[in-house]
Amino acid sequence: MRRLALLLAALLLAACANLPEAQRPPLVVVFVVDGLPYRQVEQLRGDFAPDGLNRFLKEGAVFDAAHYGHAFTVTAAGHATLLTGVSPSRHGIIGNEWRDPQTGAAVYCASDPQEHYIGHPTRALDGTSPRKLQAETVGDVLRRISPQSRVIAVSGKDRGAILPGGQAGTAYIAMADGRFASSTFYMAAHPAWVDAFQPPAAEGRSAEAQLDAATLAFARAAVAAEQLGRRDAPDLLLVSLSGHDLVNHRWSAESPQSREHLLQLDALLQAFLRELDAAVGRARYVALLTADHGFTPSPEWARAQGLDAGRITGSTMVGRVNAALAARFQADKLVAGTSASALLLDRRLLAAQGLAPDEVAAAAREALLAQPGIAAAYTRQELASGSRAGAPFFAAMQRSWNAGRSGDVQYVTKPFWMFGTAGATHGSPYEEDTHVPLLLWGPAWVRAGHAAQPVDMVDVAPTLANLLRLPPPAASEGRPLPLPH
Ligand SMILES: [Zn+2]
Repeated sequence: MRRLALLLAALLLAACANLPEAQRPPLVVVFVVDGLPYRQVEQLRGDFAPDGLNRFLKEGAVFDAAHYGHAFTVTAAGHATLLTGVSPSRHGIIGNEWRDPQTGAAVYCASDPQEHYIGHPTRALDGTSPRKLQAETVGDVLRRISPQSRVIAVSGKDRGAILPGGQAGTAYIAMADGRFASSTFYMAAHPAWVDAFQPPAAEGRSAEAQLDAATLAFARAAVAAEQLGRRDAPDLLLVSLSGHDLVNHRWSAESPQSREHLLQLDALLQAFLRELDAAVGRARYVALLTADHGFTPSPEWARAQGLDAGRITGSTMVGRVNAALAARFQADKLVAGTSASALLLDRRLLAAQGLAPDEVAAAAREALLAQPGIAAAYTRQELASGSRAGAPFFAAMQRSWNAGRSGDVQYVTKPFWMFGTAGATHGSPYEEDTHVPLLLWGPAWVRAGHAAQPVDMVDVAPTLANLLRLPPPAASEGRPLPLPH
């Protein structure tokens, strides 16, 4: 009995003492799986390798109801929200691309004509800097308070590295030849290890799995060369894995190809985590795994389940709205086109015709709501003033709408309706696109367990800041996640 009591006392002491509350993790790693809906993690969890996603699911904190709160759920918006803790309306990255509301000119979220890739060709709208990101990131705060800290962001897509990396991090992006490059925004020339990097042999992997394998191999090279997690200052490594989104666009998240890709990615993650254990120490880092958005099933799949679903062609939709406006205002093509889930009015034409933008926007909204597949639409005036507060999707649409960058009539599709003639996509305010995995592992700092209460993805940044003993990013709207205890 006495030995049992002693044992219990020792266990209790260990349980209380095993969280080094005052100590920061030497390394925080954030994995963003591009386009991974939480339902897919739940469906495949029985098939995962023992120590990849299962390490997070079995030994980590699992947030079962983590949702993005903004309506237009796309890659750039999600990646920017994750590390800033704010919605697109505040960080300004309303979509991957949009059109300038004044001039109609195409804008890409990370393009910057002042900068170019180092040692690789740069095309017109390639992403080369985070100058369009209008909110600071966790990495910006870390580097301000701890200048020796390193913030390294790696991705197959430029926006997947540049936006999480923020102004003070360093982004590395996969190039067409399988190697990685940074841009002149970050440095004049690469460190030697970057130019020495060779992508791993394909070993029969699909192109998408090979992209993820190369991204993880480059992240591994960064950990070794930059001594991440092994110096006095804590480091932040941001790894965005782009392959799954490409697979899901082409085949849908319900396809055998998507299942196969996720299992391959899981095996790659297992290998990466085990190498990180060896290089940094299993008890010396925290890892977070999440996604930038989920995925809507293809309309064909949804119809086979007996659901109302369909496809919308953007040019047809704009043509019909323009026809309705022409009948009323006697002017052709008042809508110039679409811009990040909004209709964009032609400002010059409105001025030339002496038409009031708010009046034309209100008429365009009515015409849009009469189109198949459109669930809700609100005008610039409504979104800016908040006059429709409480209306369906209004709050989520306001979080995606930015006065200086967004169009004039923001819309959302009906459930299972999507733009595009084939495959599947995302970008809606529905569960399929907003509900993502949010998994946090690091036994020295995070206890295993499930949190069932709804959490918002703006909560990720303040949580990472908390773990690193930093104040949250300045504009952060989130609250630290309720960690299991
Ligand atoms: Zn996508």
